[in-house]
Amino acid sequence: MFKILVATGNKHKLDEIREILADLPVRLIGTFDLPRKIEVEETGRTFAENAALKARAYFELTGLPVLADDSGLEVPALNNAPGIHSARFAGEDANYEKNNALLLKKMEPFSGDERKARFVCTVCFKDKENEWFFTGTTEGLILTSLKGKGGFGYDPLFLVPELGKTYAELSGEEKNKISHRAKALEQFKIFIEDYLKKIDISRLKP
Ligand code: IMP
Repeated sequence: MFKILVATGNKHKLDEIREILADLPVRLIGTFDLPRKIEVEETGRTFAENAALKARAYFELTGLPVLADDSGLEVPALNNAPGIHSARFAGEDANYEKNNALLLKKMEPFSGDERKARFVCTVCFKDKENEWFFTGTTEGLILTSLKGKGGFGYDPLFLVPELGKTYAELSGEEKNKISHRAKALEQFKIFIEDYLKKIDISRLKP
C-alpha cells in the first residue's frame, strides 16, 4: 500500500487526520513510529510556509511522501492573533489551559461580531518532485467561558454558530465533518485519489 508520513507530533491531530482519510487506499504513518525524532522550527510567516518546512524536513529524513499541516486560530479583533503562534500564544511554557485563559482575557473588551474568529488549516503534500497546498477554514465565535469537554486546544471556546455548539461539544465524527482540518483534507483527498491513479499508470509504462 502507498505510504504517507504524517508530519505531526500532535496525537490529537494525527487521530483526526487518520479518521478523515480513513477510506483512502494509503497507509498513514505517524512520526511516533520513526526511529529518529526531529524538531522542526516553525519559522515561516504563514501556515503554508510552516507546513512546507515540516514537510521538507520529514522528506529529507525519510524519503517518504509527506503530509504536513499547520493550523491555528485567527481572531480579526486581535489582528488575526494568535494565528501561526496558536500553540505558543501564552509563551514558551504555554499549554491549552494557559492559551485559553489568555485568549479569554484579550477578548474581554469585545462583544457581538467583534468576537468572530476562524480556524485555518493548510496542509502541504510533498513528494520527490513537487509540493501541493490545500487550505480549509471554519468560521465561529469566541465564547466568554469554556464549554464542552472534547477535542483539544481552543475547542471549548470556539462556537460554531450554525450548530449552536463549540468544537469541544462535537463528537469526533461531527467535528471531522465541518472542521478547518477536514475541509483542507477533503481537498487533499480529491487530489490524492487522482495522484494515485497517475502513479499506477506511470508504473505500467515500459
Ligand atoms: P500546529 O501544531 O503548529 O499546527 O499548532 C496548532 C495549534 O493551533 C494547536 O496547538 C492549537 O492551539 C491550535 N489548533 C489547531 N487546530 C485546532 C483545533 O482543531 N482545535 C483547537 N485548537 C486548534
